[in-house]
Amino acid sequence: MKYNHYQNYKYVIVGAGLSGLTIAERIANDLDEEVLIIEKRNHIGGNVYDSYNDSGVLIQNYGPHIFHTNEKLVYDYLSNFTDWIPYEHRVLSHVDGKLVPMPICIDTLNVLYDFDLDEESMRKWIDKEKVQLKEIRSSEDVVLANAGVDIYEKLFKNYTEKQWGTSASNLDSSVISRIPFRFNHDTRYFEDTYQGIPKEGYTKLCKKMISSDNIEIKLNTDYKEIINDIDYEILIYTGPIDYFYDYKYGKLLYRSLNFVTETYDEDSYQECAVINYPNDYDFTRITEFKKLTFQNIKDKTTIMKEYPGFDDEPSYPYPTKEYLDKFQEYKKDMEKEKNVIFLGRLAQYKYYNMDLVVKKALESFEKIKILV
Ligand code: FAD
Ligand code: UDP
Repeated sequence: MKYNHYQNYKYVIVGAGLSGLTIAERIANDLDEEVLIIEKRNHIGGNVYDSYNDSGVLIQNYGPHIFHTNEKLVYDYLSNFTDWIPYEHRVLSHVDGKLVPMPICIDTLNVLYDFDLDEESMRKWIDKEKVQLKEIRSSEDVVLANAGVDIYEKLFKNYTEKQWGTSASNLDSSVISRIPFRFNHDTRYFEDTYQGIPKEGYTKLCKKMISSDNIEIKLNTDYKEIINDIDYEILIYTGPIDYFYDYKYGKLLYRSLNFVTETYDEDSYQECAVINYPNDYDFTRITEFKKLTFQNIKDKTTIMKEYPGFDDEPSYPYPTKEYLDKFQEYKKDMEKEKNVIFLGRLAQYKYYNMDLVVKKALESFEKIKILV
């Protein structure tokens, strides 16, 4: 099926990220209905898009993406389109000239302070360090209450300021609450039951999701350029929500990232897939992709540095009180829409990981199914 200016589509989807592709797949394959996806970038996948560079290294173009979930339903659903490379993510943070495990666990303190703690002595140390707060109001409070001032200053304060352009004291507590504090030797970044990387990459996974002839994709197109020419019954929108409403309540802030890749004639660049730099440089972290995907390439490796800002693709909702409140104004309008479904990080203004994006799309599909 080819996109035709005057064709009617019962379902039009804005955005070919994981949310848009999941619901497109369900509509096309379960309902056997035709779907048009409109995507402004020149590729599918949204932020999970990966591709091979000139050295044959598979690059995740919008930063390192590790699939992790406790939702069996989501894991089973995506497993229809990919096999998985078993991968448990580990991150080191470069602090005081040392590489310490992140998130905080016994080993973090032992390396950072040359301690020899076990669980009991770590609990005692943390009890002395942590700040007693009546209420946890911000991301800064989360760390102070769990680990104290020194850990906050060494591992969280500057990283967060770089990443968000503001102090952790202005950010909703949910941001740093993503990071666990552990009293054991578990140095994994995630604890979820299912963890991995799609065996042939995310783009292949995405292509398989939308292989049905019922799905037509129009790339390089802002939906506003063509939407008035299309007769549709249901619009599924996964772009920024303020843009959808022509900024009627003002602009929402989205944080973005600028990615710089470098390729070296070496087998290995760094100790693990991701190293965070809270206190040095303008970038937050360096990813070495071969260490995520286990690609067997000799004498070449590609790394990526992430420079946070506001000027590139919107990637993160901005969870300060000001913008969370402003989103609530948009939300009232969203709830009144009869034939528009809003999905994903940008439209829902939520700091979703991939698994939740897929889960929400699957749940929305079940609601559509009841209506048709
Ligand atoms: P997107 O992928 O942003 O897709 C939205 C699409 O809509 C985009 O392709 C956009 O171009 C398109 N669009 C926007 N406006 C328009 C318009 N006007 N017209 C047409 N198209 C439009 N999650 C994990 O689970 N694990 C991780 O390790 C992980 N790491 C991450 C690292 C980084 C650096 C970032 C930024 C995110 C990470 N995530 C991770 C989160 C993950 O990327 C998201 O949960 C997921 O990709 C969101 O999918 P989406 O479809 O909601 O949004
Ligand atoms: N964070 C930090 N230091 C780190 C890692 C994370 O201060 O070494 C904070 C930072 O504010 C970040 C938040 O914890 O935005 C959540 O981190 P996560 O790794 O979940 O963010 P992601 O990169 O997945 O969006």
